Amino acid sequence: MKFLENISLKPFNTFGIEVSAAYFTKISSIEELVESIDFSIEKKLECLILGGGSNVLLTKDYAGLIIKNELAGILLIKEDPSFYYVKAAAGEGWHTFVMHCIENNYAGVENLSLIPGSVGAAPLQNIGAYGVELKDVFFELEAFNITTRNIEKFSLSDCDFGYRESVFKRSLKGQYIILNVTFKLNKKHSINTRYGAIEQELKRMECTNITIKNISQAVINIRTSKLPNPKEIGNAGSFFKNPVIDESLYQQLIQANPLMPVYPSGNNQYKLAAGWLIEQCGWKGYRKDDAGCHSKQALVLVNYGNAKGQEIYDLSTEILGSVNQKFGVQLEREVNII
Ligand SMILES: Cc1cc2nc3c(=O)[nH]c(=O)nc-3n(C[C@H](O)[C@H](O)[C@H](O)COP(=O)(O)OP(=O)(O)OC[C@H]3O[C@@H](n4cnc5c(N)ncnc54)[C@H](O)[C@@H]3O)c2cc1C
Repeated sequence: MKFLENISLKPFNTFGIEVSAAYFTKISSIEELVESIDFSIEKKLECLILGGGSNVLLTKDYAGLIIKNELAGILLIKEDPSFYYVKAAAGEGWHTFVMHCIENNYAGVENLSLIPGSVGAAPLQNIGAYGVELKDVFFELEAFNITTRNIEKFSLSDCDFGYRESVFKRSLKGQYIILNVTFKLNKKHSINTRYGAIEQELKRMECTNITIKNISQAVINIRTSKLPNPKEIGNAGSFFKNPVIDESLYQQLIQANPLMPVYPSGNNQYKLAAGWLIEQCGWKGYRKDDAGCHSKQALVLVNYGNAKGQEIYDLSTEILGSVNQKFGVQLEREVNII
């Protein structure tokens, strides 16, 4: 195995932030993962696993070992009358996995087409888009316990998934490396086209027959037209989570802002669109040097070229402050700050 020294991480994060890692390696087997952990212990280094680097903001040089996950393989492990159980290694690209499902007619992940990143990072924040979340198709995962070195299984309830949340982002943060995820995919398709502009896009595509392939293509078309491509402008998708507020704040805000988008989320709780709140504070299209707030989607912070991670972070802090001041709503960052 090669442990490279002083490596630029610019190609390994979709924000395109130029920082270095003291040590860097790639793993394509569990043996190599164990060897990497041994190396970090021997050198007394912190270590961090990276998939596609599409949900991190690197704010400084990393003094430890970056482990780039290249564990590969997608396998149908069993089926019953209703479901296919498909196991994907953590280093597989998420969209590659989705395309594999579409080709084989395994339904359930088509609305999650074109989300960047790896299969292994997907459970971490219970990725979601167009009315579907990873938890809706999750069966179980296997993860490597960094302390005990055992491989442990996690069921749906063990993962404690929430909105862009899981146990791996909370109480077990940094303690496990996800090795593979098994998905429970439908044989009988229950198509979900209600969310966003999917139905409109299917009409535009003149689809008479609504298949998972068509839905996937509609989602790809919408995402491509709405979101900045990280290969052209550095970004990590939505920088903030949509906030959930209680009844009394909701009543106060809706009276003052009758046009505010609101999604009732049960138990007298209301989800607001973080992008709308940010836009109302005048940040959409804002740019200071190379750090900015995207001109079409205020929820996405961008690096126009040579922004430092700290500059993007500082901009996010200013945005948090102004949304709080104007609406009394505390936004939370979705991106992992390293
Ligand atoms: C243009 C764009 C659009 C996006 N759209 C969406 C969207 O619609 N919905 C959505 O939910 N997200 C979206 N994202 C965010 C991102 O794609 C997802 O969060 C994705 O799951 C991150 O995967 P990754 O492999 O790139 O993770 P990385 O950025 O490499 O890692 C993220 C975090 O997970 C940890 N991690 C990575 N792999 C593992 C592992 N195997 N085991 C344990 N920890 C691990 C890392 O240490 C880090 O803390 C978008 C991002 C971009 C750039």
